[in-house]
Amino acid sequence: MLRLTELKLPLDHPEGAVQQALCAALGLRAGEVRDITIARRAWDARKRSAILLVYSVDFRVDDEAALLRRAAADKVLSRTLIRTPDTSYRPVAQAPARLPQRPVVIGTGPCGIFAALILAEMGFRPIILDRGKVVRERTKDTWALWRRNQLTPESNVQFGEGGAGTFSDGKLWSGIKDPQHLGRKVLTEFVAAGAPEEILYVAKPHIGTFRLVTMVESLRAKIEALGGEYRFGTKVVDFLVETGRDGQRRMRGVVTEAGETIETQHVVLAIGHSARDTFFQLQAAGVFVEAKPFSIGVRIEHPQSIIDRARFGNFAGNPILGAADYKLVHHCANGRSVYSFCMCPGGTVVAAASEPGRLVTNGMSQYSRAERNANAGIVVGITPEVDYPGDPLAGIALQRHWEEKAFVAGGSNYCAPAQLVGDFLAGRASQSLGAVVPSYRPGVTPTDLATCLPDFAVAAMREALPAFGKQIRGFDMAEAVMTGVETRTSSPIRIRRDASFRSVNTLGLYPAGEGAGYAGGIFSAGVDGIRVAEAVGRDMAGLAEAA
Ligand code: FAD
Repeated sequence: MLRLTELKLPLDHPEGAVQQALCAALGLRAGEVRDITIARRAWDARKRSAILLVYSVDFRVDDEAALLRRAAADKVLSRTLIRTPDTSYRPVAQAPARLPQRPVVIGTGPCGIFAALILAEMGFRPIILDRGKVVRERTKDTWALWRRNQLTPESNVQFGEGGAGTFSDGKLWSGIKDPQHLGRKVLTEFVAAGAPEEILYVAKPHIGTFRLVTMVESLRAKIEALGGEYRFGTKVVDFLVETGRDGQRRMRGVVTEAGETIETQHVVLAIGHSARDTFFQLQAAGVFVEAKPFSIGVRIEHPQSIIDRARFGNFAGNPILGAADYKLVHHCANGRSVYSFCMCPGGTVVAAASEPGRLVTNGMSQYSRAERNANAGIVVGITPEVDYPGDPLAGIALQRHWEEKAFVAGGSNYCAPAQLVGDFLAGRASQSLGAVVPSYRPGVTPTDLATCLPDFAVAAMREALPAFGKQIRGFDMAEAVMTGVETRTSSPIRIRRDASFRSVNTLGLYPAGEGAGYAGGIFSAGVDGIRVAEAVGRDMAGLAEAA
């Protein structure tokens, strides 16, 4: 099979145009090209008056070698015609018939799910632990915060089956390097679990919240059918490590909050970026942990129609384009960078707290992305050396400090502090809000967000918003609403690992996913889960052979 990339067609091209354009580009007749499938569809909106669809198309011809030879002499085709890469997934190891010990996966977010799936497919029958509840129960607890101001610390947007991305926009793209095509495994498993097929070829796939819940259940059923065993409401509170005669520290097991010890020499640690208590327990167990940069800021909401018009001009509302997104960055005079984060077109701002008395925002959407507002984090980068030096876990104290300020500014009841962009830029508290109705539930309190953010972040955002208004007309409109605070853009720590994906000072412990500082988003967390599971599988299969 061959692939032609960069095949450009107008947005409103008729059916059949892809085949015609393919044949024309290859200099072949329609009958000579067969099995045509779209491998990728992106759009190019740099010229708003002439938005293009950009395809990669897979196809067969009778003599592929001859076509490739001819293409090599052509300036364009030598670059755009390739053999279709083999993206099928093959397990890297097989568990022995008699398994001396089972691996443990901590966390059922995308990283833990894919680690568990791969281990189960190799026959290692993983034990999968999560502090939170099964996804349907968790959904009820999450809604209790959004509707009735009630936070359940172990079952919320951050904790429970499906992990942090379950109530999200379900964006699935990422800039990670993926030479082994592990991302294809993530996407095909998602489709098998109920995601729309289009995620396999559209350039910026998304799933939306409702489907994610069902998909998480479906993936659990698959993992269980392969011998995996889930235990919910099971928080790991201690890590048992022994030091051998060779001086090496090795995992011996984990201890749950109920006091049970699970003996294992292989632990996948996929605990996400909000497991702060567990971060401290890891440090207490002597596991090497270091501080890592993250960002802090607010969510901003505009009418989606403003973003659509700015990005797509007269094509705004075209169903192929959907609700428009944006990506913005501004480098400030004070040396800080302000950027948009986790943009959710046609979505809502959500309460994402996991600790009592602390408030955090994030964003989500449904598959249709049909809500009135666009929202995104507008965040300022911070670095350990400058902003929280010394203790590797000092970033957590900083997050907690600003989350507490936001909780109080919002009214101490999980309503969020909010401010109009016009008031924020003018340095005055908002008394009321305007035409942009904030979507955050349980509600917002108009106030001065400068009381819940570091001064340097406030200064940087005041400089960045007008600059963003030059890139997207209306972005700095006075009635846009900012809701605070966004503190969990990524993990404040890294649990550093070696080339074999093990903790640098604790053999058998495999830090993985977003919490360990090795992923940022659903897709990359899933890919990291696969990588780590493969490393565990290789090690366990090797150990079994040596025994
Ligand atoms: P997590 O998903 O955080 O999972 C960690 C799991 O570990 C949790 O289930 C937790 O209960 C469990 N756990 C923690 N500590 C323990 C312990 N001690 N014992 C047992 N279990 C434990 N990303 C995107 O790519 N696209 C999006 O559209 C998107 N939207 C988002 C919207 C929201 C509201 C949020 C909060 C996040 C969003 N993200 C999005 C980010 C994405 O969810 C994360 O990057 C991703 O979930 C990280 O996966 P993970 O498996 O590493 O960790």
